[in-house]
Amino acid sequence: MRTQRPQRDPRTIHYAIDLINEYGTDLFGFDAEQRTLSLDIEKIREAEGKDDGLSKMVAEEPDKAMYNIQCAVEEHPDLDIDDERGVDIVAVKNAPKRTVGDVKAEDFQTARNLTVDITELSSQYAQLMLADFQCLYCNHKTRMVQDPMTDEIDEPHHCPNDDCGRSNFGQIPIQHADSQSAIVQDLPEASLNPQEMEARFFGEDVNQFDAGDRVHLTVIVRTQSDDKSSREYPILEVLHAEKEEEKASVELEEDEIESFEETADEEDMLELLLESYAPHLEGEEIKAAREGMLLTLFSGDLGVSDGVRDTIHTAHIGDPSTGKSDLLEEARKVAPHHAFASGLNASKAGVSAGLERQSKLESEDWTLKAGTMVRANDGVALIDELDKLGDSAVRSLYDPLARQTVKIDKIISKELKANPATAIASNPKNERFNLDNPIGEQLNYPPALLSRFDLIFTVLDSNEADELKADAMTQKFMAVSTDGSGFETPFTNEEMRKIIYYARNNYQPTITSEAAEYLKGKWTELRDSMEAQAGVSIDTRQYESLLTIALTYARIRLSEEAEIQDAERAWNITRKSFSDINRFGDNDTFDVTMLYAGESTSQAERREDVLSKIRELDEGENTYANEELVADALSEKYEADEVKAEIELLKEKGKVFPMSGELKVSDQSQ
Ligand SMILES: [Zn+2]
Repeated sequence: MRTQRPQRDPRTIHYAIDLINEYGTDLFGFDAEQRTLSLDIEKIREAEGKDDGLSKMVAEEPDKAMYNIQCAVEEHPDLDIDDERGVDIVAVKNAPKRTVGDVKAEDFQTARNLTVDITELSSQYAQLMLADFQCLYCNHKTRMVQDPMTDEIDEPHHCPNDDCGRSNFGQIPIQHADSQSAIVQDLPEASLNPQEMEARFFGEDVNQFDAGDRVHLTVIVRTQSDDKSSREYPILEVLHAEKEEEKASVELEEDEIESFEETADEEDMLELLLESYAPHLEGEEIKAAREGMLLTLFSGDLGVSDGVRDTIHTAHIGDPSTGKSDLLEEARKVAPHHAFASGLNASKAGVSAGLERQSKLESEDWTLKAGTMVRANDGVALIDELDKLGDSAVRSLYDPLARQTVKIDKIISKELKANPATAIASNPKNERFNLDNPIGEQLNYPPALLSRFDLIFTVLDSNEADELKADAMTQKFMAVSTDGSGFETPFTNEEMRKIIYYARNNYQPTITSEAAEYLKGKWTELRDSMEAQAGVSIDTRQYESLLTIALTYARIRLSEEAEIQDAERAWNITRKSFSDINRFGDNDTFDVTMLYAGESTSQAERREDVLSKIRELDEGENTYANEELVADALSEKYEADEVKAEIELLKEKGKVFPMSGELKVSDQSQ
């Protein structure tokens, strides 16, 4: 609901004209050519030299202030604005700051500044701004301004013609505005429970942004209500929007930087960070997993060649209550930029990106929703309870994990950047691990997904884990009683966030030839033994992964060079990850091959089955191949989801491609 149309206020107009005479039209950001004004509340306040003048009116009564400033410029005798077009206010800057969660009734109808992430975005539409209503009996026309923040049309109650007074009208649209609706959300860094709200963009701000973008908004907080309800809900009318390119922004003082550098020179930064990260999780089982989380947090943007992924993905799979979720929770407190999802309530679009009709925007149209992987771009994506995520949502993770993008090619065609370092946590299929079975059989999702992860940690519930649970309970109790961490740690969460930000933005280490040789030697040994034992050849991804991990260890030490110690650490943690996988089952068939070659013997067999079935259907008379038909044809041997996941992988590897709705096998697979 809008307040009444703004009224002319001669006092305000005179005052604004006086300000123009004294400070020039620059004070209101006047652009004579475009006939636009760009108001900066801070600038007006400085000129006035007081807090309760026109600057306050722009913030607290923006409709009145904006209308009368427009009048002042239009009516100023020296400015010579004599046509009907007048001037437009295109921006208001430096309004009081709020978060979505902070917006209260006292903010209704005021101008406010918010920094938010766009999580959903509708397509562009034309919003009715002005319409005539023609009486169906006497043809009398009534012109009415429409509220662009509601979807209902504002009609006259009765024909204003005294002799008529009836209430049936024909509607004649006079003016529309380009418009776009969005759901915006508080930054995950600002709140563990980010709030959402609808916002509407108009005019120049339409089609300027993507779902997943971070934007600074100046808005007027409008309200919406159902006709008969006494409740009103805030909705944001965007006056001005600017994209924030740097999502992770942390303020660093010079002396803080000096102290980090000094600490890194004198002590083992990794050990200090390990002692500071989730200190309540104790025990050897969780220690390596914690180190993996630090690698994920410090990875990315290493300045390596194009096409090489330089983020470190870690997977934490384990028995319930072993602290996996806590490891992810802790990352939410220290990551300079992150996005979080839980498999319990995330959809496919919620974790990657996609079009959704069942949108919060209640529109019939599709809206583009940016999920965790897109919103975490250039930061860290955290997905808890991966095992609870649906199949299509899990499949939608393949692309961003391996290729750093999400493609949408249904209705609209779009490619969104999705390049976060990713950490997932999940439980085994039957809640508890069985050491006698291969790990691949104990997952709720295709094991091939794990081949996208650089480091995989399995955490078993043992006596040690019981102690750990007790520690976690103590920590929760102490957090209440000591109003803080309860643990003495070398770094606070805030310091950790600063160190991660500083290291990621200032260190792109190179590797010494000695360290590179060491890793190459380890990788060659691995490759040879794999070929001898399992008959599979491992791809170079594993080597790239070792290099990335070594470079990240160097970055953690605030070092320009990855040296032999970093290479050794990289090899040790990778070996730990291998042994975490290999402790299951008879360990020389499925698990090892899955990790090193990206697939196991049984997967290789399935892939061959799928490929030959596609070929058979494609080449047969009166038959053709698509996902459903191939799954049907192989239904006696495989689950439909397995077949479809396999087809996705084959498409990704370029071995199968879609053409006019049919699947074809490419030449290289013949
Ligand atoms: Zn009438």
